[in-house]
Amino acid sequence: MGGSFDPVHVGHVRFGTLACGELDKRGTGPTWLALAPAARSPFKAARPAASDADRVHMLRLATEGLPNTRVWTDELDRAAAGEPSYTIDTLRRARQWLDMHGNAGTKLHLLIGADQAAAFHRWREAPEILKLASPLVVGRESVNLERELAGHWDEATMKVWCAGLLQIPELPISSTMVREAIAAGDYERARPWLHPLVLDYIRERHLYHA
Ligand code: ATP
Ligand code: MG
Repeated sequence: MGGSFDPVHVGHVRFGTLACGELDKRGTGPTWLALAPAARSPFKAARPAASDADRVHMLRLATEGLPNTRVWTDELDRAAAGEPSYTIDTLRRARQWLDMHGNAGTKLHLLIGADQAAAFHRWREAPEILKLASPLVVGRESVNLERELAGHWDEATMKVWCAGLLQIPELPISSTMVREAIAAGDYERARPWLHPLVLDYIRERHLYHA
């Protein structure tokens, strides 16, 4: 799962955990969740509000102790070396890494919210991404995914999207909501949306202050 994670909230972790649970049910072997913070989304005008180091730290706080879960900083490391980061490159690198480490049979999935899936045809080498990693999609912001996708994808690819649509209830939480609550000084509003250690960290570091 890629994202800005600015900051990571309980919606992200719940999505990752439930998606892995779905894959576990298929009985195809152990499932690992990799959370890959983006340096800057090509679709977002501004850089993340928190620093790379703070976003990574919050991700680690929110996922510590979760089985088979890792924070993968590859996109940030590449950006620090001056390279832009695109999902297609990240997935190719993940594939290469798995193949080199004796996991050529391991399947990759892309965890993505319906808001992102709706705009996916604009992503760089989008059809190639879908060949490398089959999508697992969670409903978001009441997006009618089938309607949004129609016209952008052929029939075979529509089937791939529909097969990946997870039947889990939406959790209407976003990092934007968290940042707005904190900027208004309303930590209590943000409390249910965050891991307690993440809320403490935001407070201590005075992150997201107006
Ligand atoms: P922002 O409001 O800053 O855009 P966000 O909450 O959308 O933040 P991102 O880091 O942009 O979080 O999202 C990373 C991925 O997680 C995206 O695929 C997004 O659709 C998904 N996602 C974010 N929030 C939720 C949620 N509440 N439930 C399910 N998926 C989510
Ligand atoms: Mg978002």
